[in-house]
Amino acid sequence: MRTTVERRAVGPRDVLIEIRYAGICHSDIHTVRGDWGKVPYPLTVGHEIVGQVTEVGAEVTRHSIGDRVGVGCMVNSCRECDNCKAGEEQYCLKGMVGTYAGTDRDGSVTQGGYSTHIVVDEDFVLRVPEAIAYETAAPLLCAGITTYSPLAHWKAGPGRNVAVVGMGGLGHMAVKIAAAMGAEVTVLSQTLGKKDDGLAFGAAHYYATSDPATFEKLANTFDLIINTVSAPIDMGAYLRLLRLDGTLVAVGAPPEPLPVQVFALFGARRSFAGSSIGGIAETQEMLDFCAEHGISAQVEVISADEVNEAYERVLKSDVRYRFVIDIDTLR
Ligand code: NAP
Ligand code: ZN
Ligand code: ZN
Repeated sequence: MRTTVERRAVGPRDVLIEIRYAGICHSDIHTVRGDWGKVPYPLTVGHEIVGQVTEVGAEVTRHSIGDRVGVGCMVNSCRECDNCKAGEEQYCLKGMVGTYAGTDRDGSVTQGGYSTHIVVDEDFVLRVPEAIAYETAAPLLCAGITTYSPLAHWKAGPGRNVAVVGMGGLGHMAVKIAAAMGAEVTVLSQTLGKKDDGLAFGAAHYYATSDPATFEKLANTFDLIINTVSAPIDMGAYLRLLRLDGTLVAVGAPPEPLPVQVFALFGARRSFAGSSIGGIAETQEMLDFCAEHGISAQVEVISADEVNEAYERVLKSDVRYRFVIDIDTLR
């Protein structure tokens, strides 16, 4: 459904962005379906936003008219707490302001990127390198940073064995980024249907989780597992794939709790962790890393009228590997 969203007037530190493309993240779908709780309707979602700057406030120093920019999952934070000061604004102790369904500084509900324009504080606007096309850059603003951050934190790199569970939007970026960091990457997907793509993205190995032999063969193998699955899966089975001191990081956000068998943790001093997007400086670092390594998202560009159909396909794990809305089709 099309509607009109009011944006606040451009303040002294604000940037007005004409949006060109917006990625469809599974979080948009969880949100609008009410998976994570009550939805503050009317709501426009979308937090993988790219476009160009068309107006800047009087005090803006970081961006100029015409710049290629992006906005991810947050548009503000308190900036004063320990976590904000550490550059981890996503973990702001007062709660970061989400790009949509958050509370804006004027008290209104923030509205996301499936729209023609957005007004954002300059500190939460990223530079999109020239080397990355707009449409393939959009998914980096959420899928890219959400996988880059734990891969960097848990030190994916040469000599490290990394598994990625689920090869959708986040998963395919995790494969590309982990491989670019120098890790040996294994994809754990429900079937072997996307194996050729996984290997082309940089994975060395690809296994089907529907085959019980996968879990026997890969027991005690990985230093790091990134779980991107949007539904609950058997944590014990995946934890047992970690070698001594390995870590399984949850980035997938199913509505239901994920029960953890403590004996699977005891077995090899394993850790079960979680990670949420990444800080603003780290998001810029990720964009620059992707430009330097020639990586970006593999996308299917759709028109604004095709969003509902795209949602159905994402829910069926039929996405290769991110739907991106051409916002010109909204104008
Ligand atoms: P997506 O494109 O739908 O990818 C999820 C993948 O998980 C699917 O492609 C599929 O991969 C696998 N999968 C789906 N249902 C499954 C099931 N029932 N059993 C086993 N595997 C299944 O979604 P996404 O946009 O990458 O997002 C993934 C999750 O991350 C969502 O829950 C989203 O809300 C969350 N998320 C979290 C953060 C954060 O900051 N932590 C940020 C963004 C998104 P295969 O076909 O390869 O099996
Ligand atoms: Zn997202
Ligand atoms: Zn804070």
